[in-house]
Amino acid sequence: MADALAPHGLVISSGDTADVGVGGLTLSGGIGWLVRQHGLTLDHLRAAELVTAAGEVIVVDETHHAELFWALRGGGGAYGIGASFEFEAHPAPTFMFAALTFPADRAEQLVPAWSRFMRTAPKEISSTMVLANPFAGGLDAPVEVTFARCDAGAIDDAS
Ligand SMILES: Cc1cc2nc3c(=O)[nH]c(=O)nc-3n(C[C@H](O)[C@H](O)[C@H](O)COP(=O)(O)OP(=O)(O)OC[C@H]3O[C@@H](n4cnc5c(N)ncnc54)[C@H](O)[C@@H]3O)c2cc1C
Repeated sequence: MADALAPHGLVISSGDTADVGVGGLTLSGGIGWLVRQHGLTLDHLRAAELVTAAGEVIVVDETHHAELFWALRGGGGAYGIGASFEFEAHPAPTFMFAALTFPADRAEQLVPAWSRFMRTAPKEISSTMVLANPFAGGLDAPVEVTFARCDAGAIDDAS
C-alpha cells in the first residue's frame, strides 16, 4: 500500500511490514507509525465493495449499509469478503526515524521517562518500546530495551 501511495506523495496509517495484506490489516485495525496523528488503517476507510455470504456484491459506506460499514471496521472477515477498498490518504510528511538501545538494567529508569515524554509529545511522534533479546543475538544474548521513535513532520528543537 505504501509503495502505491508514495509516488503520489501520499500516506495512510498502515502496519510496519510490507508483506501484511491490505484486507486483514484494514478490517482488523492496522496500527502503524502514523497512529497517533491519523488513527488506525480502518479510520482511513471511506468505502468497501463487499461480497456477502449470500453472494451479493454491495458497496458499503457512511450512507449505504451504514451499520455494516461501521461493523466492518474492526470486525475482521466476519461480515463478508472485501473485494475492494477506498481510502482517504494524507499528504506525506517528512519522516525521521531513530532507535536507541540500552542494556535492560536501564529499563527501570528509562521506561518512566519515555512514558512521561509520550504523554505530552506532539501527535506527529509515535514511539514503541521493546524489551527483548536482540534479533540477531539468539536467546543467550543479554536482554535489551529499545526505544524506536518516528517523527512524521514534527521535528523542532524541543522534541
Ligand atoms: C510480520 C508481521 C508484522 C505485522 N505488523 C503489523 C503492524 O505493524 N500493525 C498491525 O496493525 N498489524 C500488524 N500485523 C498483523 C496483521 O495486520 C494481521 O495479521 C492482519 O490480519 C494481516 O492481514 P492479511 O490480509 O495479510 O492476513 P490474512 O491472514 O490473509 O487474513 C487475516 C484475517 O483477515 C481476513 N481477511 C483478509 N483479507 C480479507 C478481505 N479482503 N475480506 C475479508 N476478510 C479478509 C482473513 O479471512 C483472516 O480471518 C503484522 C503481522 C505480521 C505477520
